[in-house]
Amino acid sequence: MSDRAVFFDRDGVLVELVWDAVDEAFEAPNLGEDVHLVPEAADAIRRIRALDYRTVVVSNQPGAAKGKASHEDLLETHEHVVRLLAESGVVIDDYRYCLHHPEALDPELGGACDCRKPKPGMLLEAATALEIDLSRSWMIGDSDVDAEAGRSAGCRTILVHNPRSSHRRRVDAHVDFRVRDVAQAADVVASETR
Ligand SMILES: [Mg+2]
Ligand SMILES: [Zn+2]
Repeated sequence: MSDRAVFFDRDGVLVELVWDAVDEAFEAPNLGEDVHLVPEAADAIRRIRALDYRTVVVSNQPGAAKGKASHEDLLETHEHVVRLLAESGVVIDDYRYCLHHPEALDPELGGACDCRKPKPGMLLEAATALEIDLSRSWMIGDSDVDAEAGRSAGCRTILVHNPRSSHRRRVDAHVDFRVRDVAQAADVVASETR
């Protein structure tokens, strides 16, 4: 079993962001019916797995904490992602979600946690569970907090410049590679892996 992994942010990297009329911004889908894979996602995962990387999704999902979605909605959304990827012929080894938010309405989901990116908790826990060497691993995300979590965990980092999430990126963020989409991210991993 490989001891290296590629960690993927989910929304904006593997799954399309959807228009949120309340927030007037593109956001993560909170309903199963709103889940659409990014066209390049399954092929990028397939190529990365062929390079002998484990694959792990690490995603902040504060929708329930903020009162925008129910736990059932979030679970259904997750299950849709798994199903759509399976229909495209790929599986992800592990999914890790942070359900917390500092300003949560539900006190059980509030306060500071160790898992909400930019903290590296989800990557560290997955690395322990799957016996992954983080220094040989990668984090791919479309937000500065993804790059920061990956860097804190000791991974190399790739920032995907999804135009729908440009408000989540600063030009001076510390990141190893910048790419247009997850297909280009897979190109980087391929060319940097020996
Ligand atoms: Mg994202
Ligand atoms: Zn958390």
